Amino acid sequence: METTLTHTGNPWIDCGIIGLHDLWKDKSKIQPEGDVNVHWRNDQVVLEAANPEELNHFLESTFEEIKSTFYIERTRNTVCILDRKKRQFKVVPKINLVSVVGFLFSGGDLKVKYGAKEPLETGLMKKYEEFRRLYKGRRNIDFKVKKDEKNKKEYVYASEPRYNWPFKIGKEGVCSFCGRRAPCVDIDSNNYPFAVGTNNFQNFFSNLSLSPKMCLFCELASLVAINRIIFNLTERRRRLFLAIPQAYSLGELYDFWHLITSNIVLKPLNQDSNLLSGGYRYRRLSESVLATCLELYLQLERIKEDAKRIAEADKLKDKVSSKSWHFFMVSKTGQVLSFDSYTYLTDLHRIFKLFASLGNPHTFKEMFQHLAIQHGREWRNELRDQFAQRILRSAGLNNVAERIMWGKSREGSYVAGLADFIEHYNIWRG
Ligand SMILES: [Zn+2]
Repeated sequence: METTLTHTGNPWIDCGIIGLHDLWKDKSKIQPEGDVNVHWRNDQVVLEAANPEELNHFLESTFEEIKSTFYIERTRNTVCILDRKKRQFKVVPKINLVSVVGFLFSGGDLKVKYGAKEPLETGLMKKYEEFRRLYKGRRNIDFKVKKDEKNKKEYVYASEPRYNWPFKIGKEGVCSFCGRRAPCVDIDSNNYPFAVGTNNFQNFFSNLSLSPKMCLFCELASLVAINRIIFNLTERRRRLFLAIPQAYSLGELYDFWHLITSNIVLKPLNQDSNLLSGGYRYRRLSESVLATCLELYLQLERIKEDAKRIAEADKLKDKVSSKSWHFFMVSKTGQVLSFDSYTYLTDLHRIFKLFASLGNPHTFKEMFQHLAIQHGREWRNELRDQFAQRILRSAGLNNVAERIMWGKSREGSYVAGLADFIEHYNIWRG
C-alpha cells in the first residue's frame, strides 16, 4: 500500500512534513521500527508499506524515537527505581522536556510518568533500606515510595521516567488539514500549539472546520514541525518568538530547508534559540523579526566569502526572501499559551536589499543590539521594537531615533552609528 503526504497550506503542518521527511531519510538521527519505504515524488512524500498496521506502527515508533532523541533531556536530579529483572535498586536521572518543546506542547496530560509499581515486600524492603542508607546525604536522589492506604502496602517505582505522549491511533474521520479520511484525533494543545482562540489569525486557521480533527500523519507532522522553524525563547522562557516560512508547494519548502540546513548551522532544540544569540533580549515581535532577518542575511552573506559560492549564496537569499513568513510572539501563563502578536511578511527581499545597501551590515547589527535602553537594572525594548517596526514598514525613523538618542543620553551613553544609519536609511527610502 502507498500513502502520500501532500501540501496542506497550513505552514506549521507543511514545515512538519518536511521535518519528517528529513528525519526519515537521515538514518543517523532516528531508526523507527517497521518496514516502510520513504521517498520524494512529484512534490509529495510517499510512504510504502505492506499493510496499514505496519505503517501505523512505523508512525508511532517514529514519534517515540524523535521524542526520546530530541525532545527530552536528563536533569541533574535523580530518582531511585527498582530494576525488575535483577531485583536491585538503582538511581536513574529524572527527565524534562527541552524548553521549546515544553513551551509549545503544554497540555495537562503531559507529565513525567513512572509506569508500573512493585509492592515493597519484606525482602525487597530490606534491600531498599540498605540502598537508601548507602546513598544517605545525597540530596538530589528522590526515593519515591507510594503508600496505598487501603491495603496498607508500600510500592516502589519499577521503570524509568518517561513521557506518555498521547500520540495514538484515533477513530476514522476526515482530517481538517489534509482532507483525507483516516484515523483522526481531536486537536488539542498536546498535538497542535495553535489550538487556542482562532479569531486573530485567520490566515493560519482558515482551513479548520468547527470541530477540527487531525489525522495521524498531520498529527505527527505537527509534533515534528518545531524542527523546521526558527524560534527564540526569552524572559526566562516565558515568551517565545516563532518564524515560520510558507511556500506554495512542498517542493519549494523542501528546497528551501535543504539549502538552509546545508549552509546555516541551526542550533539544537535544547537551546533557547536555534538562530539568534542570547543576551540581546529580543522579546517583542518587530525587533525579533528584524533581528531574525538580519541574522539570516548575515549567515547567507558569509557563504560569499568562498568566491566560488557567490552564485549559490544569491540563489539562497532568493529562496529565503521569496517565502511568505509568519511571525508570532507567544506568551505562557501556567499551562496556557497566548498568541499575543502576529505579523506576516511577503517582501523580505526589500529588507535584504536594505541590508545589502549598507556598507557593513555587521555594524548595523551591533548598533541595533544597542538600541535597548537601560532603566536601572531593567532593559526597555519599546523603542527598539518601534524602530524595527518602522523599518519593516518602510516608514520614517526620525522621531523614534530622536527618542532613542534622548533615552540613551539620560543613561549617559549614546549609540554609535545611529545618526549615520538614519541618514543612509532616509536616502535609501527616497
Ligand atoms: Zn491530515
